[in-house]
Amino acid sequence: MDKRMINPIYKYEERLCVLATSGNLRELPEMEHQGKWILHAGKRMLNLSSNDYLGLSGNPELRAEFLATPAARWEPFSSSSSRLLTGNFPVYEALEREIARSFERETALLFNSGYHANTGILPALADKRTLILADKWVHASIIDGILLSGAPFQRYRHNDYEQLERLLRKNATDYETIIIVTESLFSMDGDVADLWRLIALKRAYPHILLYVDEAHAIGVRGERGLGIAEEQDCIQGIDLLVGTFGKALASMGAYVVCSSVLRSYLINTMRPLIFSTALPPFQIAWTRFVWERIPEFSAERERLRSLSVRLAHALQGKGGEISQSHILPFIVGESPDCVLKAEELRRKGFYCLPVRPPTVPKGTSRIRFSLTANMEEAEIDALIASIYVMDNSKRKEL
Ligand SMILES: *Cc1c(COP(=O)(O)O)cnc(C)c1O
Repeated sequence: MDKRMINPIYKYEERLCVLATSGNLRELPEMEHQGKWILHAGKRMLNLSSNDYLGLSGNPELRAEFLATPAARWEPFSSSSSRLLTGNFPVYEALEREIARSFERETALLFNSGYHANTGILPALADKRTLILADKWVHASIIDGILLSGAPFQRYRHNDYEQLERLLRKNATDYETIIIVTESLFSMDGDVADLWRLIALKRAYPHILLYVDEAHAIGVRGERGLGIAEEQDCIQGIDLLVGTFGKALASMGAYVVCSSVLRSYLINTMRPLIFSTALPPFQIAWTRFVWERIPEFSAERERLRSLSVRLAHALQGKGGEISQSHILPFIVGESPDCVLKAEELRRKGFYCLPVRPPTVPKGTSRIRFSLTANMEEAEIDALIASIYVMDNSKRKEL
């Protein structure tokens, strides 16, 4: 008899072997954190793969200041329930009011994570008579949300608004609602969506909703750190403005800014909100503490910008020209070369990872650098020097 029929675990073991043979087996990397550094196998490396964009997560002063607040002392470590049952602590609503006020919008609603938000909102709002049109490069959590919704969908080429316009024209009369979904700052190329262009497309029809995920931009873009929507001055034109707390805000969770009708509808229909224990009030208190200070981090935002320009300049022709942010692709080309480059950079003290197909198009394997505001110019210069030494010596030191 086939071994797989005797032991159901066997087939998984086989598949893992296939992954290992093709060099695609994933394991959880062991590491310790020391602020912007990662300690791994006795080596200290600058973390160039972090989402802690403002450098707040390891900031000892901020932490101490928070721990001295009454909220840190009294807010529980568990909500013990969904917010619809007994888990709705006042701190959630306080944060929602503050977020709505920051954006000068009607309401906000919190979620346990960006993943919860993106896998919950579209299934709640979209049905068979809704068409979802999503940028080709949106985050996996949005893709999962689209699939879960069961609604018809099409993906337009990345930031290709002409194609999007054609899709709208072609489909406009066939659906009750159309939802356009995009990120504002994309995590593979570090490039930015033209939100006004999307708002103009949306306004050409009466039945379109615009959904924008600002996970990589909240806290780091805009005068007051409210993201690309603030920077492009179009906050009011976006129906569902999503952001997360796990990146620049150094916390956990997510929000959507929307109308009170949409908020009530989500509360009534969104499964990840209804059927999951709400985040600990303690965590929400920390998020609130950081949220209130976001406008004050202009110096960090400016520093992040200037470090990014410095690296982008050095990476001209290798991906630096594509990026418009603190996320910068260094396009190497073929996957094996890319893996080797990333390994070399790690050996030189720069923690970075290769991104390969199918995540990115074939032949554009890249190292993805994400910068944080607590890095030094000298550290970026040392990174640049390492990249170019490697180029010239063709890995002689191997
Ligand atoms: C990180 C990310 C998410 C997921 O957010 P979590 O809070 O980590 O679950 C969602 N959308 C985008 C665009 C992201 O980059």
